[in-house]
Amino acid sequence: MSASGAVNSTHTLLSARWVIGHANGEHCVYEHAEVVFCGNHIVHVGHGYTGPVDKRLDYGEAIISPGFIDLDALSDLDTTILSYDNASPASTGRVWPRSYVEKGPFEMYSAEELAFQKHFAFSQLIRNGITTALPIASLFYRAWGETVAEFESAARSADALGLRVYLGPAYRTGNQVVESNGQVVAEFDEERGLAELEAAAAFAQRMEDNDSPLLRGMLAPDRIETCTAELLKRTSETAKRLNVPVRLHCCQSSTELALIQQMHGSTPIEWLDKLNFLSDGCLLPHGVHMTDTDIELAVEAGVTVVHCPLVSARHGSTLDSFMSYKARGMKLAMGTDTWPPDMIQNLQQGVIMNRAADSAGVESCRSESLFDAATLGGATALKRPDLGKLESGACADIIVIKLDRSLCGPDPVQSLMTGCSGRDVSNVFIHGRHVLVDGEIPGVDNDADWVQAQQQFDKIISLYPERTLNHPPVDDIFSTSYPRAE
Ligand SMILES: [Zn+2]
Repeated sequence: MSASGAVNSTHTLLSARWVIGHANGEHCVYEHAEVVFCGNHIVHVGHGYTGPVDKRLDYGEAIISPGFIDLDALSDLDTTILSYDNASPASTGRVWPRSYVEKGPFEMYSAEELAFQKHFAFSQLIRNGITTALPIASLFYRAWGETVAEFESAARSADALGLRVYLGPAYRTGNQVVESNGQVVAEFDEERGLAELEAAAAFAQRMEDNDSPLLRGMLAPDRIETCTAELLKRTSETAKRLNVPVRLHCCQSSTELALIQQMHGSTPIEWLDKLNFLSDGCLLPHGVHMTDTDIELAVEAGVTVVHCPLVSARHGSTLDSFMSYKARGMKLAMGTDTWPPDMIQNLQQGVIMNRAADSAGVESCRSESLFDAATLGGATALKRPDLGKLESGACADIIVIKLDRSLCGPDPVQSLMTGCSGRDVSNVFIHGRHVLVDGEIPGVDNDADWVQAQQQFDKIISLYPERTLNHPPVDDIFSTSYPRAE
């Protein structure tokens, strides 16, 4: 049995100025309160605990909160940040040119580098207070899909770091290619994608069967526009048979909408409905382009929209709106999806973008709605009533957010939304294990990891000309802010 699965009956008492507890089916706020957990589960939240205590940790001016559940958890060195001021995907290496496809796409990272980027990303998620993660990474720099081998390694990393994960390599039957005249076309290799699905299904089964309480399986077909009907049908059947969540990026961009309309004559959601793909095990990032009919179909099927407001806002879009989806009965959860994997920043952005989308006042969207999505929403999506809340009997997935460098009002969640970032997360407990201790992950050399992460990122940037239309040098692919001075 892994270390994280070992039986432990130690009673640990955490205390702080604020505790986000849970009572009568919703979060509640305690002031000057405590959380006690025994082994891997919570035994007391609130005031007046009189039971046994083996260890006490007082965090003072801080919030003790349920850990965040990240259903689109950044798990690579995020290349989308290179697009921040560089919009055209076809001319900035985000669509493979014909010349690159003909030469034969290759893995731009070595197996060791892929393993490191998962380790690094998982440690960053923990630092940001994410206690349950469903990893997401780009496929642009891959030969095709993700591999089982790297996910075997990812499972070891998650177990070693103590992060709760649902793992599954991304697979696809198709891709977009940009011709030398700039036209983007869809191309498919169904056999390759179906073989990847089989490998991914066997991996998910192994994850479900393993004895670590932290490791579970999922299915991760890439984006709807890179999937054939057969791949999605088999994915849906497999997910139901294995009883694992299935995540599919859809309703994300106008390019995707146009491609699905052209190939299948319908909206993405209508097509998924026709394929009998939609179910209560479906997690759909990003869901920003949905018609009223799409929303009705999605609500009817019980899918969860995974809101990633930071990455959407960077591209000038958002859910229109989070609160109106919620009012129509949509299940909503959260994802980080981009660098930095900062859930607090995503919650803040989510409130602001909702207010902008609704062109309404403060009351159109309140802080607790986003906080709910990042905790209870994720737990519901994963059918895990034992996660996302601090309540007796729940898993001890607990984070501490420092407030001693923030201007605080009388409510801790509002203080979090107006003054904090992921860097204020100081301590994290997952399944009762203390995985972030006063800002440090035991056994992880953060400084050395950062050196390696930057070296790998520099390497992937240097390889951009290989897969960019007309193969210009790096300096010509990415614009600069101000001119470089000599
Ligand atoms: Zn995404």
